[in-house]
Amino acid sequence: MSAQTPRPLRRVLIAGGGIGGIATALALQQRGIDSIVFERAPQLRDGGAGLHIWTNGMLALDHLGVADQVSAIAPAQSACNFATSAGRTIGTWPVGQFVQRYGQPTVAIGRSDLHGILRDAVSAPVVTGAEVTGYTEHDEGVSLHFADGTSEDGDLLIGADGVRSAVRAQLLGPQPPDYTGYIAWRGHAELSPEEFPPGTFQALFGPGTRFTYYDIAPGVVHWMSVADGPAGGRDEGTPEQTLDMLRARHAGWADPMVRRILDATVPESILRGDVLDRKPDPVWGRGRVTLLGDAAHAMSFNIGQGACQAIEDGLVLAGHLVSGAGVPRALRAYEAERRERTGPMQVLAHRIGVLGSLQNPAAVWLRDRFMALTWNKTFQSTERDHVAYGARWKSGATTSV
Ligand SMILES: Cc1cc2nc3c(=O)[nH]c(=O)nc-3n(C[C@H](O)[C@H](O)[C@H](O)COP(=O)(O)OP(=O)(O)OC[C@H]3O[C@@H](n4cnc5c(N)ncnc54)[C@H](O)[C@@H]3O)c2cc1C
Repeated sequence: MSAQTPRPLRRVLIAGGGIGGIATALALQQRGIDSIVFERAPQLRDGGAGLHIWTNGMLALDHLGVADQVSAIAPAQSACNFATSAGRTIGTWPVGQFVQRYGQPTVAIGRSDLHGILRDAVSAPVVTGAEVTGYTEHDEGVSLHFADGTSEDGDLLIGADGVRSAVRAQLLGPQPPDYTGYIAWRGHAELSPEEFPPGTFQALFGPGTRFTYYDIAPGVVHWMSVADGPAGGRDEGTPEQTLDMLRARHAGWADPMVRRILDATVPESILRGDVLDRKPDPVWGRGRVTLLGDAAHAMSFNIGQGACQAIEDGLVLAGHLVSGAGVPRALRAYEAERRERTGPMQVLAHRIGVLGSLQNPAAVWLRDRFMALTWNKTFQSTERDHVAYGARWKSGATTSV
């Protein structure tokens, strides 16, 4: 083989078996590249919460060959409705139109359902109970090190190990993610399709607190209550007491569905988490090591794109790895392409979170008016800047990578 011809990849190491890591293993598999995933958790599973998968994410999942399985369980959303806690409509986004324009709907799905569909499609080995602690790079590859003192070798390393990534800490330094100032409580309620119209998405804005709900499977409604507060707190008491606290927080909200959903909630389903993000980073990798998903571009939930972007990352990265450029150049090309896409999303999601956290009544009044006035424009820019990107993966479309 000449010095100019990169040798074929034998094995890609992936740290982290979340949605990003597993989707990447599937994207590599499609390109004929072997990989192995190392997951810290003793079992491969994702949390009980729900995810909004925009049409760009669905187009990426379609390219990975799993959109039909997702659509079989995930309700397609017809419209995303936004209103104030007092019941004043802010606006409606007709996201149901996307299926005509792009061939895939915007859906909502249980996080573990999506994770399971991806996992079932992947034939790469997934090693659980494998906590990555660091890596060593050589001229021809990377050794990945684990908490039990063992190591594994591969041609390159993808750090898909989430917002507190160990790979990232070694690569870029140990700076923790930023706390946004608000906390999310998530849970699910059991409500029949007669009680809860399928495909409904509702986001309600109050002073310093928000409530969002949508169905993630027939008869299962996922909800999220967000409130400002200090980092690192926990709910004392039983799950029932947490539910009572949430009922009190949203008491008097105009939409009667809020109370109905909380009353139909399985208390044990409630999860609490500080919402974290990061500012865009100018560097995501060096040599044969790169980052992907939340490890690379942690963004708050406010635009519902974090998981969608992790899936897109995997497809783009796999495309660059078969470009013939050689590993370091392929990784840098992937990073440059994806930084341009995800950086503005990190910033936008953060800004929306700041608006959502406003507590002062005058500021809240102005926010709600501002959102209503800019509504149509915001929908157009969301479609243009976030959704339309996925058209590159529409069946028959030509893609650069
Ligand atoms: C409240 C909330 C709502 C959200 N809603 C949406 C939404 O509607 N739509 C959307 O697209 N996104 C949403 N997101 C964002 C989305 O959840 C994330 O962007 C997505 O899960 C990132 O996937 P990932 O694989 O990069 O990271 P993760 O899902 O965090 O997976 C990382 C994996 O790496 C493992 N790991 C960590 N450290 C190690 C280690 N040292 N060694 C080995 N394994 C390790 C972890 O156990 C985990 O399995 C939301 C996030 C939050 C918090």
